[in-house]
Amino acid sequence: MKLVFATHNRNKLHEVQALLPDYITLLSLDDIGCTEDIPETSDTIEGNALQKADYVREKYGYDCFADDTGLEADALNGAPGVYSARYAGEAKNAADNIEKLLYELRDENNRTARFKTVIALHLNGKQIFFEGIVEGSITRQKSGNGGFGYDPVFLPKGYKKTFAELPLEVKNTIGHRGKAVKQLIDYLENPDRS
Ligand code: IMP
Repeated sequence: MKLVFATHNRNKLHEVQALLPDYITLLSLDDIGCTEDIPETSDTIEGNALQKADYVREKYGYDCFADDTGLEADALNGAPGVYSARYAGEAKNAADNIEKLLYELRDENNRTARFKTVIALHLNGKQIFFEGIVEGSITRQKSGNGGFGYDPVFLPKGYKKTFAELPLEVKNTIGHRGKAVKQLIDYLENPDRS
């Protein structure tokens, strides 16, 4: 089965392909000739995921899924949340986003935070959402070179290493996107159950 994953992000493609059974081959946006940036203008994570999936289905005609992720820090009332990608500006620069997050939390002892991923799937005329959450906390400085985005400052609950220090298999097992993708796989394997 071939399924389009509506992302330009190679890290995400790699993470998700590692989780999928061999019989599902992911096509990226580049694979279907979509080189433009898909608008993400909703004020919810669900809305952005659906906006991306809708765009691919309407413009390119493929069944597909799209994900959107937000990092919610409790001391910042859930920020950066849906604005995680552009937290430090339109350049969507991960280092700048991390710097801003650490600055905003500089005087906070409450470091608790969570990643939330929502996947929107269009398949055979149906539209379904899947959600994955991982609880954790924000460190006071960056650690690790793996992963992407906010990984160097996110310490998953129960672990002493950040997502950027942990192996991808661990991130995929306990992480937000991994949990959402597992639900997606369950659905793809048995679409009549829900
Ligand atoms: P989006 O899901 O691509 O819109 O991601 C929103 C923001 O969250 C971007 O700044 C990403 O770099 C960041 N982000 C998404 N997924 C992860 C992750 O698994 N780890 C760390 N940061 C992430």
